[in-house]
Amino acid sequence: MQAVMETYKRLNIAPTSGQGSWLFDAAGNRYLDFIGGIATNSLGHAHPALVKAIQEQAEKLIHCSNLYEIPIQAEVAKLLTEATDFDKVFFCNSGTESVEAAIKLARKYAHTNHGPEKHEILTFSKSFHGRTYGGLSATAQPAMQEGFGPMLPGIVHAPYCDLEAAGQMSGSQTAAILVEPIQGEGGVNVPPEGFLQGLRDLCDEHGALLIFDEVQTGVGRTGHLYAYQGIGIVPDVLTSAKGLGGGFPVGAMLTKEEYAALGPGNHGSTFGGNPLAMAAVRAVLGVVNDPEFLEEVRFKGQVLKNALEVLAERVPGSEVRSEGLLIGFELGPEVAPKVFEHCLREGLLVNMIGGTTIRLAPPLTVTRTEVRAALDTFRGGIEAAVNAISSKASETNQVAVV
Ligand SMILES: *Cc1c(COP(=O)(O)O)cnc(C)c1O
Repeated sequence: MQAVMETYKRLNIAPTSGQGSWLFDAAGNRYLDFIGGIATNSLGHAHPALVKAIQEQAEKLIHCSNLYEIPIQAEVAKLLTEATDFDKVFFCNSGTESVEAAIKLARKYAHTNHGPEKHEILTFSKSFHGRTYGGLSATAQPAMQEGFGPMLPGIVHAPYCDLEAAGQMSGSQTAAILVEPIQGEGGVNVPPEGFLQGLRDLCDEHGALLIFDEVQTGVGRTGHLYAYQGIGIVPDVLTSAKGLGGGFPVGAMLTKEEYAALGPGNHGSTFGGNPLAMAAVRAVLGVVNDPEFLEEVRFKGQVLKNALEVLAERVPGSEVRSEGLLIGFELGPEVAPKVFEHCLREGLLVNMIGGTTIRLAPPLTVTRTEVRAALDTFRGGIEAAVNAISSKASETNQVAVV
């Protein structure tokens, strides 16, 4: 009997080592990894700078309580604030914890400055903010909340991209609007021009904090260090995790000085900002926070997008939604599973969302050659799926004629 609780439906693939964009299993099979631990292996596998950073730090100091000064934590916080519009960083260990910190910060700030009535958090349909109770309550997906009620009170949901609804649901009671600038788990949904600016305006009108959940879109994923920098709308609070440690567990919540409402005793984390995690973040930022590197991410993203859009012409109703190397290819319930299976058989690891959309989030270090290889596999998958469906359709037609 499997001793691991079955909280994941797992594929029959068991990687035991990796190198760059490739994963290897014990039997010697290799896989081209175009999902990268779901936007987490930002530097691919066994990146020398990340391996060296972790090895060297492990020999010096792995953990040290936040009761003491942690110089490398201060250094990494400074790196993050210098690279963004924020002044203060709270470190934790995961995406959902960064969201918890953001919700607590927003409520504390509102409580201190306006009183307890101002505590509502507005979030959006199809969002994903993590699995702990704060994050889960913010995640406006009934299927994920089912059976776990009651949820955290004071969280309301509006349809994603519906600015009018967001306007109706926000007011003086709103402490924060929490939104993914591009939805990841919801299917890689890129909001239309004006939506995020509209939320910015609502927050300004109501004295609420705008929180961008950049757990998936951050750390170079969209071709900018954080997606907001490409969009040009600055939130008040930002959450980061996934790619931040290149696979090492670490999360962060960033905010501006004037909103940094959490003081001693208000919040904390035993492991948050430990030296080992900080060494990983420093190594990742050393590679990713570089204009040339980010430009190359945008280039590879554009190559993928253009080529997938050509393939999309073969599948009626299909659509490519992407920013940088976060790509959703909606193919519908008939084609998507066939393409997914084809990729798996060919050793290309991708991810399927909702049975209809293929998600790609390869390592940011993926090479142009690997991008072409993945596209070849995709082309074959679309070809095979379209042929299988049309031959099935003509069979049915023949039966109908007979
Ligand atoms: C993955 C994700 C989370 C949760 O991160 P965990 O590290 O799994 O807790 C939260 N928000 C967004 C946008 C995510 O993509």
